[in-house]
Amino acid sequence: MSAAVTASAATGTDGLTSLPVRRPPVRAPRWWRDAVGAVTWLTMLVVVALWISGGGIQAMGTPAGALTSLGRLTGLVAADLLLVQVLLMARIPVVERVYGQDDLARRHRLVGFASFHLMLAHLVLVVIGYALTFRTDVFGEFWGLVVDAPGMLLALAGTLLLVMVVVLSVRAARRRLRYESWHLLHLYAYLGVGLAIPHQLWTGQDFLADPIATVYWWTLWAAAAGCLLVFRVGLPVYRSLVHDLRVSAVVHESPDVVSVWMQGRRLDRLPVAAGQFLTWRFLSGPGWTRGHPYSLSAAPTGDTLRITVKDLGDGSRALAAVKPGTRVLVEGPYGRLTAGVRTRRKVTLMAAGIGISPLRALLEDLAQAPGDVTLLYRARSTADLVLRHELDALAQRTGARVFYLVGPRLPGRPTWLPASAAGLSEVDGLRRLVPDIADHDVYLCGADAWMEAARRAVAAAGVPTAHIHQERFAW
Ligand SMILES: Cc1cc2nc3c(=O)[nH]c(=O)nc-3n(C[C@H](O)[C@H](O)[C@H](O)COP(=O)(O)OP(=O)(O)OC[C@H]3O[C@@H](n4cnc5c(N)ncnc54)[C@H](O)[C@@H]3O)c2cc1C
Repeated sequence: MSAAVTASAATGTDGLTSLPVRRPPVRAPRWWRDAVGAVTWLTMLVVVALWISGGGIQAMGTPAGALTSLGRLTGLVAADLLLVQVLLMARIPVVERVYGQDDLARRHRLVGFASFHLMLAHLVLVVIGYALTFRTDVFGEFWGLVVDAPGMLLALAGTLLLVMVVVLSVRAARRRLRYESWHLLHLYAYLGVGLAIPHQLWTGQDFLADPIATVYWWTLWAAAAGCLLVFRVGLPVYRSLVHDLRVSAVVHESPDVVSVWMQGRRLDRLPVAAGQFLTWRFLSGPGWTRGHPYSLSAAPTGDTLRITVKDLGDGSRALAAVKPGTRVLVEGPYGRLTAGVRTRRKVTLMAAGIGISPLRALLEDLAQAPGDVTLLYRARSTADLVLRHELDALAQRTGARVFYLVGPRLPGRPTWLPASAAGLSEVDGLRRLVPDIADHDVYLCGADAWMEAARRAVAAAGVPTAHIHQERFAW
């Protein structure tokens, strides 16, 4: 892949070509993102075209006709967005690589709420439209539709499930639920979508009158279901069987942080890069069905993977007791916090707490000359500086600059700096450590509030958004 490096030089990444190449970073060409975006919009254009060719505009001659027709349109677009929703979370590698987890989770939320509101509009507009057309009362019309129209009872059940999922995804509600309970209930969204589809084909005017539309719609949904089966079930099962990962050692890095080393077969064939995460299931007893995402905390080798995990609850705590030989099932790799998104010679890695994990792997993996890479590692106390000895050794070997920013938080100020830097502004603190920060690619990982403060400082110091890369540890 040195060609890739040469290629990237062509796109203006200053000074990267002269560096020693470790492993060719995996890059997602820019046009992939445009293509995925274009396909998404295209599916929406198609459903609007279906509505127009199905007489959607002509039907708007009367108030009743207009309401019913707009009800059909909102229903079509809502269903199309539900489809996009399923594809966004189907872990399709090209989509994963283009957007990365944080952006995908953000789009998933956006598309989810948009499709939900359109679905409610669809329901209300169609019922009122029909009630006006048949001069009946709205509730009678609604009930009549539910019990008489084909597939409507299923659609109602599907709608109620989607209402439950959306209500529980509102942040205030979600905070009250254990992550596992929330995640399990969230999976009912698939059942909700599945129950809502049949009425579209059995009563949907846009499909009944047009076999091409019906074939198009079934094909889209079959493709979505296929992607789910292949990328969320097939591929993880295949990789878990082929690589046969087993725990080889558990190392206590600090009282509440452990590193888990794993060995497996042909890991050189696993398309994983430093900085990425996988979802892990340790077959070590009850709770093994619950997968947890952990980032690699060392650059992957041909036979070893390592994660470093802080005890934040029952799943992460249980890792301290995992025995060597324990089998491990994996989903992934996922995430874009890799050398592949780097386009500049200079790099700053900013980590807080256990967020050091993927950045320690990147520090090892990034192609660099002395002074090209700077690590800023924020922790409450020196005891919380996990993997410090490795970071120092890596700095020794690569010539990277490492700064440990230790101390309590500054009360009342959203900041990435320790209290000892109270006299400095967010940007001055940054420039003091990395004077040419504006010319760097910046990688961020840590708790949400800290990462937000760091991101604001980095942007204010002149780093363009395209050169700021981050991974959130909570979705
Ligand atoms: C992309 C990514 C990479 C991560 N990498 C690391 C790492 O390298 N080292 C590390 O110590 N931690 C990492 N985490 C955080 C880690 O996944 C959670 O701390 C862990 O799952 C907590 O589970 P628990 O059962 O111990 O605690 P719980 O009490 O069940 O959860 C504590 C919090 O962790 C989050 N969480 C729990 N389960 C999941 C899940 N399956 N998916 C997403 N979030 C969850 C929830 O926000 C929850 O509020 C990462 C998280 C993400 C999203």
